[in-house]
Amino acid sequence: MASGGTARTLGVVRTQRQVVDYALQRRALLADVYAGRVGVMEVCDASPYLLRAAKFHGEPSAVTCPVCRKEPLTLVSWVYGDELKHASGSARGTEELAKMATLFQEFSVYVVEVCRTCSWNHLVQSYVLGKRGLRGGRSSRRTAAE
Ligand SMILES: [Zn+2]
Repeated sequence: MASGGTARTLGVVRTQRQVVDYALQRRALLADVYAGRVGVMEVCDASPYLLRAAKFHGEPSAVTCPVCRKEPLTLVSWVYGDELKHASGSARGTEELAKMATLFQEFSVYVVEVCRTCSWNHLVQSYVLGKRGLRGGRSSRRTAAE
């Protein structure tokens, strides 16, 4: 009963939609790495910015790093959207995402897995959050611009 599972990160928010999974691309890239067709240096290239985001906003996953196998991967969620203004392009924790989903109509989330030991990183999933996803809610009306 030791495993925490990744369910904590996903499906928390009711308005989650347009989910895209990048497992196939990840598997293909890893196959290339294992076969030596792609260098480890090329794929283990997390920027200091991404590593810092993993440290402060990351969620631990149950998946061990596929490259160095030294530690579990950390999941970092990046948010993008016009509505978010200056917050677009920043990393957010799960609780913040849930809160933002009730504040904004629509924004995109890109979940990236990062290994803080060897700097492997890959896009895992993207999805859309926001009030627009609530069916029949008051939010279906267009918000008056200021
Ligand atoms: Zn690693």
